[in-house]
Amino acid sequence: MVTVLYIGGLGRSGSTLVERLAGQLPGACAVGEVVHLWQRGVTEDERCGCGTAFAQCPFWQQAGKTAFGGWDEIDAGRVAALRARVDRNRFVPRLAARPAGTEPAGTGPAGTGPAGTRPAGTGPVPALAEYMSYYTRLYAAVAEVSGATLVIDSSKHPSLAHCLRRQGGVDLRVLHLVRDSRAVAYSWGQAVRRPDTDRHSYMTRYSPAVAAAQWNAQNAAFHLLRGVPVMRLRYEDVVAAPEAAVRRIAGFSGLPAPGSLAFLGAGWADLEPGHSVSGNPMRFATGKTAIRRDERWRADLPAGPRREVTTLTFPLLAAYGYLGGRR
Ligand SMILES: [Zn+2]
Repeated sequence: MVTVLYIGGLGRSGSTLVERLAGQLPGACAVGEVVHLWQRGVTEDERCGCGTAFAQCPFWQQAGKTAFGGWDEIDAGRVAALRARVDRNRFVPRLAARPAGTEPAGTGPAGTGPAGTRPAGTGPVPALAEYMSYYTRLYAAVAEVSGATLVIDSSKHPSLAHCLRRQGGVDLRVLHLVRDSRAVAYSWGQAVRRPDTDRHSYMTRYSPAVAAAQWNAQNAAFHLLRGVPVMRLRYEDVVAAPEAAVRRIAGFSGLPAPGSLAFLGAGWADLEPGHSVSGNPMRFATGKTAIRRDERWRADLPAGPRREVTTLTFPLLAAYGYLGGRR
């Protein structure tokens, strides 16, 4: 059974940095946000983290062959349809209500399920089994092609973590990454170009109130995960002491304690090119890269929105230690 480290949390919380750092641990292979692989990789042929188009990347070609007999053999539209039926944040309470591994039998191998139909009263379970079979096969193929024992998926969404917990067929470990809600809200307000395609496109933007609501909902959903190991990590602590954070992640993921971490220095990391399939533009960074806390929100987030976000996110902001004397 493949071990999967799932990095969860709201976007702009530093998941790409954490993925890149943990992906350089011996025995680990980080592949980016797998939830977007089907659409942005298989269908839209966006760029892999190595810089080549998805269809041209030798790593993903091999992984596709190993998992499915080639990417042509799967219907990415089917994966999207299944995702819409089972992998939604509004299904989290229902997904969380049942212990792992208690599903009725699924609908057979991926792609052979009854498209678009669901027997009355059965809920999204057969679709979940079929949906998860794509992930299980992909993770196993990534492990085989890379030779890694740990696959790191930085999809972030809580609903996918809950799907994997229920029926992933993998040894799942969840790293719940949190960051100060004011910094996250500030980041969601910025215009950021997407270098993932040649088309002119920008990352989604949220108003402070929407970012605060998202921050609450996404983080709270990770507190509902039961029966799988969950490690909570603050982005700010990763940036302050990257080596300690990476060693904690190694231990949590069941990797042997690494020797010296030569790719980490004081305030920098030496990043190897990777095959991160989707995520923040930082997935393309290689070579010596500064690791520093992004504190622009302290100067640039106006007092009104700052108060609004603080108030709206108060309970978890306090629980994570972002209020009071510590900061
Ligand atoms: Zn690649």
